[in-house]
Amino acid sequence: MFETLSERLGGVFDRLRGRGALSEADVRTAMREVRIALLEADVALPVVRTFIDKVTEAAVGAQVLRSVTPGQQVVKIVHDALVEMLGADASELDIAVNPPAVIMMVGLQGSGKTTTTAKLARRLTERDRKKVLMASLDVNRPAAQQQLATLGEQVEVATLPIVDGQQPVDIARRALSAAKLQGFDVLLLDTAGRLHVDQALMDEMRAVADVSAPQEVLLVVDALTGQDAVNVAQSFTAQVPLTGVVLTRMDGDARGGAALSMRAVTERPIKFIGTGEKMDGLEAFHPQRVAGRILG
Ligand code: GDP
Repeated sequence: MFETLSERLGGVFDRLRGRGALSEADVRTAMREVRIALLEADVALPVVRTFIDKVTEAAVGAQVLRSVTPGQQVVKIVHDALVEMLGADASELDIAVNPPAVIMMVGLQGSGKTTTTAKLARRLTERDRKKVLMASLDVNRPAAQQQLATLGEQVEVATLPIVDGQQPVDIARRALSAAKLQGFDVLLLDTAGRLHVDQALMDEMRAVADVSAPQEVLLVVDALTGQDAVNVAQSFTAQVPLTGVVLTRMDGDARGGAALSMRAVTERPIKFIGTGEKMDGLEAFHPQRVAGRILG
């Protein structure tokens, strides 16, 4: 994760720290290198521009250049700007409501939605001691509901019994009443994916949201698709009230462009990242820690 960027920035910052005094020209040269490093990591261009402008303005200030350790000060400015870019105030889940809290999982086919649903159910059960029910609303892909049931057995989380022929909105209603009757704390709804963002999908998402009034609507996107992941998130944001994003396959993503652009472009926080195929491959996303990881 973020290896490319981390390596490039490491070089730039070693050079900065190695100098006793810094001129404005030194800072501008370093910022040109940071700019290239961000673009190589596949960060969206407008995000890079805003970032570089902000950091440059703060870093060429007299206070920084005349300080005893100007190089370190510049690195701190970059660190703070990075944390902000990643979504400084990001929270995990907002499910402190009268149970059941409803979490709707949305996303395109193959993004890792069903896997992430089961991983999240496991995390809520084991770490947060919640009583969790999962339900698959995917009636398009024949094996989808069974896939969730199988994962449910694996992570020892209950799934709503499958009733053939039921439509997504009806499954959502049934899941909600089962969760209420049986005293579940959290209901996870795994909605149907599609190959592309289309109107039928969005209408279905909205109808499900109407009947289930979710506390969280999490979009699952594949980090390996880079800026496409950000574009998909933008399309969803315009249509459904997303509360956050889960970026899957971060374990295979050396560049990190999707993670770095997501917050700024979509104004939605990354809440979790997928870090492997196994059921324990899900981590909360902490901007501070990620910035620390990138800057070494
Ligand atoms: P869905 O169509 O969106 O429900 O996608 P699935 O949940 O079926 O996942 C598609 C594939 O991606 C499966 O083989 C998963 O094991 C894999 N996958 C999901 N999340 C991750 C992740 O974070 N890392 C890795 N390496 N693979 C993942």
